[in-house]
Parts: sequence; C-alpha cells; structure tokens
Amino acid sequence: MNFKDDRRGVSVRKELFLGTPCPLCGLTAGVWVGPIEEGITDNIRADFPRWSPEEGACERCIDAYTPPRLI
Ligand SMILES: [Zn+2]
Repeated sequence: MNFKDDRRGVSVRKELFLGTPCPLCGLTAGVWVGPIEEGITDNIRADFPRWSPEEGACERCIDAYTPPRLI
C-alpha cells in the first residue's frame, strides 16, 4: 500500500463527498471517506454488492462494518 497515494485520495474524496448523503444509510450528515480497509469494504459489499469504496460511507457505517480485529 502506498501511503502517499492514500493521503492524496483522502483530500480529494473529502471535497467530493462533503455534505453528500451516505450511499449506505442515506443520512446527510456529511460522508466521511478515507482509505477504507479491505476487510471493511468486504463486509460492506456483503450487504451492498453494488457499492464501491469510491462512493464513500459515513463514519457510522465504517464503524459498523469494521471487523472486530481492526478496532
Ligand atoms: Zn452511513
């Protein structure tokens, strides 16, 4: 994993998704998107097969789908 690329992705995505409804829960609290761990994206895709990490997710959803080993 390239740390530099991750940081750049975070800033771009934060701009894109600020104030955007979360694609998972639909709440408009402002979608937080950063580098999402592979284990989390796998869990989200189990419930939302058409979701992709680029769409982002709010912090609550990220927390909800975080495997216990990553907390
Ligand atoms: Zn959400």
